[in-house]
Amino acid sequence: MEMLTLGITEEKILVAGVLPFDAGGRIYSYIVPPAMAGKICKGQLVRVPLGNSTRQGVIWSVPEETVYDGGRVRKLRAILQLCQETPVLSPDLLELMAWISAYYAAPLNSVLETVLPVVVRSGVRAVVHKQLRLERHLGEEDFERLKRRAPRQAALYNFLSVQKNASVGKDVALKGLGISPAVCKALVDAGIVGEISETVSRDVYMDGLSECEAVIGLPPVLNPGQQAALDVVCEELATGHFHARLLHGVTGSGKTEVYIGAIREVLRQGGSAIFLVPEVALTPQTVGRLRQRLADMEKRIVVWHSHLSAGERFDAWMAMARGEVRLVVGARSAVFAPLHSLRLIVVDEEHEPSYKQGETPFYHGRDVAVYRAKLDSAVALLGSATPALESLANVHSGKYSLSRLLTRVDDRALPALRIVDMKREVLNTGGGAVLSRQLVEALRARLDRREQSILFLNRRGFSRSMICTKCGFVAGCPHCSLALTYHLAGHRLHCHACGHKEPVPASCPACHSPGIKGRGPGTQKLEDILRELFPVARIMRLDADTMGRKNLFREVLADFRRGRLDILLGTQMLAKGLDFPNVTLVGVVDADLSLHVPDFRAAERTFQLLVQVAGRAGRGDRAGEVFVQTFTPDAAPIQFARRADFDGFFETELEQRKEHAYPPTRHLIRHLFRGRNEDKVKFYAENWVRFFEAKAPGLVEIRGPAACPLERLQDHYRWHAWYFTERVTQVVAQLQILRSQFTFDSDVADIVDVDAIDLG
Ligand code: ADP
Ligand code: ZN
Ligand code: ZN
Repeated sequence: MEMLTLGITEEKILVAGVLPFDAGGRIYSYIVPPAMAGKICKGQLVRVPLGNSTRQGVIWSVPEETVYDGGRVRKLRAILQLCQETPVLSPDLLELMAWISAYYAAPLNSVLETVLPVVVRSGVRAVVHKQLRLERHLGEEDFERLKRRAPRQAALYNFLSVQKNASVGKDVALKGLGISPAVCKALVDAGIVGEISETVSRDVYMDGLSECEAVIGLPPVLNPGQQAALDVVCEELATGHFHARLLHGVTGSGKTEVYIGAIREVLRQGGSAIFLVPEVALTPQTVGRLRQRLADMEKRIVVWHSHLSAGERFDAWMAMARGEVRLVVGARSAVFAPLHSLRLIVVDEEHEPSYKQGETPFYHGRDVAVYRAKLDSAVALLGSATPALESLANVHSGKYSLSRLLTRVDDRALPALRIVDMKREVLNTGGGAVLSRQLVEALRARLDRREQSILFLNRRGFSRSMICTKCGFVAGCPHCSLALTYHLAGHRLHCHACGHKEPVPASCPACHSPGIKGRGPGTQKLEDILRELFPVARIMRLDADTMGRKNLFREVLADFRRGRLDILLGTQMLAKGLDFPNVTLVGVVDADLSLHVPDFRAAERTFQLLVQVAGRAGRGDRAGEVFVQTFTPDAAPIQFARRADFDGFFETELEQRKEHAYPPTRHLIRHLFRGRNEDKVKFYAENWVRFFEAKAPGLVEIRGPAACPLERLQDHYRWHAWYFTERVTQVVAQLQILRSQFTFDSDVADIVDVDAIDLG
């Protein structure tokens, strides 16, 4: 229906900006029909005509009165339908989306698709859940009579009466008590119990508290360090202004208690908070602890994770959008939770690369959290035992403030880190054993004492570095601080940053030993080895392959906590936030795997990995021991981790980065070119770089183009160029203009990743 007639009768008409879904990310103007006039506001879901069809979209800009001029406005079409009055996006989120689009060089529609869950976009009607609530209290005598006459009804009555005045999901109540709907109906008919239809599922909040989570004790009294850190956060909250603070606390220093204290303060003030974790499935303990510690203040905590059903997701989003939820826990995308009066965003394990989205928009959850806090005049609290160098640089520049917790709670010792020199092991045993004799003995001792062990094997890295098994020499690029990567095709070593290539040395260039080779067994192989060594031990493996199964992680971790497993074995994803008091041994099977990857962050990752995995040991009363197997025992990150020397590591590493002007000294923008035809990809990458240099001379420092370390992925060839700059916003704007002027072959896609982390 065309709305031309509407405007004509009045002098002025209302015009609103709408961002339709799946329409290239442009904002279109639409007339607001008079019937909707008073109801339209930013962030609402509407249906609009577009071309020959209709679309859903969100109101992007508030209706503005426009003088009817019979010209431009006459051509406008009208909004067809207001899908719901509750806006699905808040004004701060719209502003945040605009920022993400500009900063990360991403079309607005891709940002919208990332922010707004697909079920909300499609406007699925709310799933109705029946709730039960006690309507009428029974006197003691009546209750006794009910108990005798209908014990099941009495049980339900009893259950509801202890919930005070809160309503409880009907399904949950009936299933939990094992009673039939007929029993419930009898109470409803008698007017004792009320049945209400509510649009929000309680399941979203309850999310099955597992045994693994339920064993948490009373809230501890904060130690002076924790209290001091909490006090300054509370002061910042009290100002009502934006603050960003990095909480650098060693593993087991009690950071989580500081977060909880800050959240309590926010709830007390009537505000709301977001708590980000790297991966919900891997942090059941944290989630459980938050729930338990905050239960007296807030029952309705949304746990935002990938396993929510469409209905649950819809319900949770709308409950947040209506302002009914004050705390959300979740991974990266929970930073977009449409909470009202947001006062605090906690980013736990802020150094984790999983906060960076691996596709357009390539946003970083931590950085978006800080920007959102700024928009909302809220506090961003970033915590880690091993902060990212970027975050430390932000502390140095004054962008973040810093709090430190340098000792474990109760002054428990940090575990002793033992470096096992695998070169010597190879010499002494004459073989290439995966597990050193020391580590095998240590494992055996734990089995004898009925203590638990965790083994880490970081399998990341698709091609292997070349390493000398005698002297530990690693082939590196003469132009970059990167290890060269062995490529089977052509049998050569490549540098993935600058494109340098060289033949594979027949013998070690340093010691002339012929024993230079690529190495690295996987977790599966390690599992076989362990089973052979310890046939009666109870062993479980957890890695990316097992991630897919919904409850497996939780179950295995719960089994481990209950002492039903002796050895847990997995990739570094296991290092996140787990707290098992009976673990006294941690083994890092191959520290070199993360060290010699073609990535300038390799040293940082290795240091973080070692410190984090070491942090899993000795959390109970018994001290822990950590074995790190490596062919390069003198490597800086390994030695700094051994001494738990954070400042030493950061200083040395920052010097290295400065030398090559890598992040955090400057921003890195990675421009990826991808296509099925290798020659075309190379041709367009090179042509583009020439074009870019000519059109914007001196705008950025360009390195490459060169083939990506992961040269071919899913039948696509990949090249990339790196741009270094101190002024991202300006550069991205310029880059976007130039990209629109350059015609790529239809077979070649180009992708921009601002502040790239994945360089593979
Ligand atoms: P982090 O998050 O820094 O690794 P946690 O907050 O998980 O440390 O604390 C480690 C352990 O110490 C947990 O089991 C926690 O319950 C306990 N804890 C934390 N703070 C205190 C305290 N002040 N007194 C006693 N125990 C504490
Ligand atoms: Zn050598
Ligand atoms: Zn190089």
